[in-house]
Amino acid sequence: MTNLGDFTLTDLTEYLKEHGESAFRAKQLFRWIASGAESLADCSNLSKTLREGLGGEAEIYLPKIRRKLTSAIDGTVKYLFELKDGNLVETVVMRYHHGLSVCISTQVGCRMGCGFCASTLNGLVRNLAPHEIAGQIIAAQKDVGERISNVVLMGIGEPLDNYDNVVTALRNMNDPEGLGIGWRHITLSTCGLEDKILRLADENMPIGLAISLHAPSDELRREMMPVAKRYSIAGVLRACDVYFKKTGRRVSFEYALAENKNSSLSCAAALVELLRGRNCHVNLIPVNPVKERDFTGSSRENSQEFMDYLNKNGVNATLRRRLGSDINASCGQLRNSEQE
Ligand code: SAH
Repeated sequence: MTNLGDFTLTDLTEYLKEHGESAFRAKQLFRWIASGAESLADCSNLSKTLREGLGGEAEIYLPKIRRKLTSAIDGTVKYLFELKDGNLVETVVMRYHHGLSVCISTQVGCRMGCGFCASTLNGLVRNLAPHEIAGQIIAAQKDVGERISNVVLMGIGEPLDNYDNVVTALRNMNDPEGLGIGWRHITLSTCGLEDKILRLADENMPIGLAISLHAPSDELRREMMPVAKRYSIAGVLRACDVYFKKTGRRVSFEYALAENKNSSLSCAAALVELLRGRNCHVNLIPVNPVKERDFTGSSRENSQEFMDYLNKNGVNATLRRRLGSDINASCGQLRNSEQE
């Protein structure tokens, strides 16, 4: 079965042409998908053959809300979406003064194996298709009834490990006939797949890039993130430089602070050595404890001290505010508890 939400507008036009439908129909359908149509039968202005799925070979699908939690503290909304095959993914909508931002998943599970992360506990189940990636934004926007203006690819999965589907979904998010979200309002977070960062730099798609760094040395990073055995920090930073040169977008770094691991002042000093002189930003996040993992978040005082050290020594850093703490909004954990 062909899912018509997996095509870019150009490819959809081509596909429909092969089935005797005009370019105009492709545009209409593309808009229907972005506006949250649940099935082809709902798309009232299309031809009958198209509404009947071109003789049963094509369809569209919007992720279904399986659970929805709303934070009483800050209005953060967390969705557990069900896909056509029954798999579950998490999506979070956050309210900021500049508008709504959504955090989406890119895979069911993850095979990167980071030691502190809940999403990787049972490995990778499968990649998400383009329509399932963009569909999380469409379904969330339809449910909240307000425009979502910012997207971060920071949910379950490693986006660059599902490269082609993620790139197609990004093109559809950006397309003015689709969701129309500007490149500057999209950020992709990666654990640092160097070769894929270089490929992304050539896509002519100037989205923000965030690198999950989490350690100032390869040795410590390898203890926390298996991916560090394949790529050195120096190599990832070189890829970031190329990314900046080609896209004009500054790269930011994420650093999850774990007690007795990577949060000492000597780690802060090593991080300064590594990043000083780079035009960058460090996002500090105290580790959110996952019950199956033995990482503990560093204390408020420790985190503050770590941040002050970076800022005093010329590395721009902020401590991430925790939204939705009452609904366990950090990704991966809701899916795991639902499966138990
Ligand atoms: N795979 C991508 C994106 C998903 S995770 C990546 O690695 O960047 C989004 C961010 O949350 C990453 O920086 C990740 O390292 C971090 N993260 C994962 N588990 C965490 C936890 N328990 N506490 C704090 N941050 C965590």
